[in-house]
Amino acid sequence: MEGAGVISSWDLSVGVDGPGTRFVVFTCGCPLRCLYCQNPETWHLRDGRRVTVDEVMAEAAKYRRFIDVAGGGVTISGGEPLLQPGFTGELLRRSRALGLHTALDTSGYLGDRATDELLADTDLVLLDIKSADPVGYRALTGVDLAPTLRFARRLSNLGRPTWIRFVLVPGLTDRVRDVDTLAAFVSTLRNVERVDVLPFHRMAMGKYRELGLEFPLADVSPPGPELLDRVRRQFRNMGLTCA
Ligand code: SF4
Repeated sequence: MEGAGVISSWDLSVGVDGPGTRFVVFTCGCPLRCLYCQNPETWHLRDGRRVTVDEVMAEAAKYRRFIDVAGGGVTISGGEPLLQPGFTGELLRRSRALGLHTALDTSGYLGDRATDELLADTDLVLLDIKSADPVGYRALTGVDLAPTLRFARRLSNLGRPTWIRFVLVPGLTDRVRDVDTLAAFVSTLRNVERVDVLPFHRMAMGKYRELGLEFPLADVSPPGPELLDRVRRQFRNMGLTCA
């Protein structure tokens, strides 16, 4: 049903979920199980809250003036928003009709479910490519890499503006060869405005505890500045804009 969907929460964020100040909708349900996931409360549809598109839009409207003044828009995040493509598409369409900048934060794994219309209503895709190594990707997420790369290529062919996001985890995603492979792939896309290298952190450990889950990377430390510099340089060396 397209007029309603299941969400975990909504929130206002600055600087992390797209340009400017964003009204962010965290949808529920995700087929991935990333070892570093910061939102384990969004994994299962059954844990979410059913809301109508009208309810979400009414909430977004409360922040409208603030978003207009500060610059920003609406971001549909998750979980994996493309698990509920009808709901997500409707939120994007309605937001855009109001003149709000729209962003879709996705792993790309379910990219085949995004219609061209949904993508046309998306001003910016935040595409998380967690590794360019199929074996490493599966170990990190539990699923195949191929659908994400296929989606990235489709976005390029459609010319949809995209930011690539890559979480840097020492010992897991920092191998020079793997980062070079990812940077080389991204450099072949025509639509990528920037690459964000996001340092792994352990801030979600409390959430895991509350859910009775073990945080799989509890013993892994965040990357230091030198490692971050090296990886960002690897992307820049491929001619990419990297923050
Ligand atoms: S895709 Fe996102 S929500 Fe899903 S498990 Fe990975 S980090 Fe968590």
